[in-house]
Amino acid sequence: MTEPYLIELKHISQMYGRADRRFTAVHDVSFAINSGELVALLGPSGCGKSTLLRTITGLNVPTEGEVLYRDQPLKGVNPHATIVFQTFALFPWLTVQQNVEVALKARGMAERERGPRAVELLDMVGLDGFERAYPRELSGGMRQKVGFARALAVEPELLCLDEAFSALDVLSAETLRGELLELWSSGKIPIQSILMVTHNIEEAILMADRILIMDKQPGRLVAHLPVLLPRPRQRKDPAFLALLDQIYATMAGQTQPEHIELGSAPGEAGPTRLLPDVTVNALAGLFEHLNDAPDNKADIYRIEQDLKLDSDHLLRLMETAELLGFVTIASGDITLSPLGETFAEASILARKEIFAGRLKRLPLFRWLLALLGAAEEHRLDRDVIRTALELEFAPGEAEQQTAIALAWGRYAELIAYDTSTDAITLESPASVPAA
Ligand code: ADP
Ligand code: MG
Repeated sequence: MTEPYLIELKHISQMYGRADRRFTAVHDVSFAINSGELVALLGPSGCGKSTLLRTITGLNVPTEGEVLYRDQPLKGVNPHATIVFQTFALFPWLTVQQNVEVALKARGMAERERGPRAVELLDMVGLDGFERAYPRELSGGMRQKVGFARALAVEPELLCLDEAFSALDVLSAETLRGELLELWSSGKIPIQSILMVTHNIEEAILMADRILIMDKQPGRLVAHLPVLLPRPRQRKDPAFLALLDQIYATMAGQTQPEHIELGSAPGEAGPTRLLPDVTVNALAGLFEHLNDAPDNKADIYRIEQDLKLDSDHLLRLMETAELLGFVTIASGDITLSPLGETFAEASILARKEIFAGRLKRLPLFRWLLALLGAAEEHRLDRDVIRTALELEFAPGEAEQQTAIALAWGRYAELIAYDTSTDAITLESPASVPAA
């Protein structure tokens, strides 16, 4: 008989929202994790990673599909799985040790056992000597360690990490990652498997046995890669870099025909494409960098290193650059297009004009400019735009999309925004595109 999977997700789909605003956050995701495995889950923000963790821990009942834990259908909260979040809400009025004891108490541990066990757990995560400290006296890295100690107190079989290292500075993240791997492989904790959500591709390659890659709109699995590199893994190892390259190639997609890329306008049939959250300044930095590269072309993973960008940010920059036609992307390489080259070499005024020209091609901008063109005095309240976008996107996303559209549109001098009245106006009526 073969050992059952520790956890298995079968055809999980998750819809959110009600009636006419329903959208598919996760579409038909299936995967399994064996005992003893560390699996990383990568994907752009909004692709449903946190949703899947909530599904696994039973905090979320999927719209469709089934979760099996050790071959048994999961019902209610999963007592064997726990999530470590990006930041931990510690009780500020309790000491470090008391913060851990709270979790032990919640598990029903007798009072006299809690103290010694808490001390033991804190020792494991490298916090011995800090038992009596208060959270405010600790660095971010140390607070996150208390969070880990609290998660370990539950003695989960499956530890889920939701971007657990991403709020830490580079050095603390590195240390804590190392300590967790060490602790896990030492067998001192009863954790069977780890599922780690991250947007840091290097982190995934450093730690995981397998990497699952998701894409968004709708959130779905697009790739599944085993990591066969020996441990401890070295960032400079050519095999490491080759895998990094391959993952970027998968995540950054390929340049597609424009009508597919652009999506439709709000209110039209079909999904409206989300504007990636990037600044024009950061985009310009990328174009300038590529403009200096041989053949205006670079390996994506090298850009991450050269520009010291985190991979999530770099992916958003590339998505935007590709969407606007400034670069093309294929097999892990990014190449500046002739338009991108022109932009990189242009004056500030000319850059604004080029950027304006590209924005007008985006359905979301055409819609925005047309609305303003039709409005009295070409003026609309910011809330009007945001509320209209809430019909397309989730509420938080609508706010973010409004902010991005305003920032890009102001740079391009297509629109003006008065922060004291929250009024958006057309910079010049001539900027309304012909219908
Ligand atoms: P990720 O963790 O990959 O960033 P999430 O799982 O948090 O993605 O979210 C996936 C999508 O579902 C996003 O569009 C998000 O706005 C939406 N979403 C997440 N939770 C809810 C919820 N409780 N209600 C409505 N929409 C949600
Ligand atoms: Mg998330």
